[in-house]
Amino acid sequence: MDAEPLVAPGGCIGIVGGGQLGRMTALAAAALGYRCRVLDRDPLAPAKQVAAHDTADYDDMAALERFAAKVDVVTCEFENVPVAALEALALWKPVRPGPRAFAIAQDRLPEKDFAREVGFATPPYRAIAAESDFDGAAYPAILKTRRLGYDGKGQARIASAEEGRAAWTRLGRVPCLLEGLVDFEREVSAIIARAADGALRAFDVVENRHRQGILDLTIAPAPIAPARAAEAQRLAGAAAQRLGLVGLLAVEMFVDRQGRLLFNEMAPRPHNSGHWTIEGCTASQFEQLVRAVVGLPLADPARRANAVMKNLIGDEVRAWSRLAADPALKLHLYGKAEIRAGRKLGHVTRLYPLDVTPDPRSAFP
Ligand code: AMP
Repeated sequence: MDAEPLVAPGGCIGIVGGGQLGRMTALAAAALGYRCRVLDRDPLAPAKQVAAHDTADYDDMAALERFAAKVDVVTCEFENVPVAALEALALWKPVRPGPRAFAIAQDRLPEKDFAREVGFATPPYRAIAAESDFDGAAYPAILKTRRLGYDGKGQARIASAEEGRAAWTRLGRVPCLLEGLVDFEREVSAIIARAADGALRAFDVVENRHRQGILDLTIAPAPIAPARAAEAQRLAGAAAQRLGLVGLLAVEMFVDRQGRLLFNEMAPRPHNSGHWTIEGCTASQFEQLVRAVVGLPLADPARRANAVMKNLIGDEVRAWSRLAADPALKLHLYGKAEIRAGRKLGHVTRLYPLDVTPDPRSAFP
């Protein structure tokens, strides 16, 4: 007999965070007959346009308890949700993934230590808590705040200990990580789903190209050796397993000039580099997350088309009507009213037959 899911269709998934990742998760949940309720402190958060919602701060315990009472299971769509909020929610309802995955992913030091324990190689790194910590490190290097950095924010490239000390002062002398600068051939990511029974299903490894620290393009599949891609998926699976995570884990890596994989960072949530799976795979990353958190069997994440995904950042979104008119493109807009530089406002995906290598240069003329 098939096992009953934790939450049957008709039930409600609580999503902490109301950004585009929550919005696309709610749309996938609706397709499977589930309702969603979004919690975000911003009354205009984009996911609130497509789901029931509450507006509250994440440290408002009474609001968290009211939210938990209205949902059957809780998941998160952003990484920096306070761990205390997740621990509180877990008193009332299952939280998937649980607080531990977030606690590790929110601090670059335990995150890198964890990656090494799992078997990933990493760039050389050391904690920075005092000016003398810059002495004797290898340069060039990149200085990153341990917490709350994203899209290249809270980072500085430095060529010497002197420059490091100056950059650290500019970053407010908060706890940082100093990492060796990798001369990488390309950046790749792996997204894996893990179910409560331990089943693992990986999406194909993709290549990511950034501009000014923000993801610009994702190319699926990544043009890397199949053995390298399999290693990335195996290590991502080992990380999810070790975390006991139920949901999605996205791992960003570098491929260096020798073809070696180096861990950069991970996120226990849907990932921008997985948006191509909406059209490119038999089930998207968002459907896979919904399945994992409600306890349905994981779907087959097989690639049915090659793809290039481009983010629409800031003014790029103004091309929406031209993009919508191109029959070869699939346009997604996130319902954000205000166009700001560096803000992700939508994305667009172009599909290719499985035997055609996607060319990112001609994908979006
Ligand atoms: P992160 O926020 O750590 O993902 O960094 C943002 C981007 O900065 C990455 O996607 C890379 O393009 C670049 N970057 C981060 N760390 C390194 C590194 N150790 N070596 C070279 N480039 C890096």
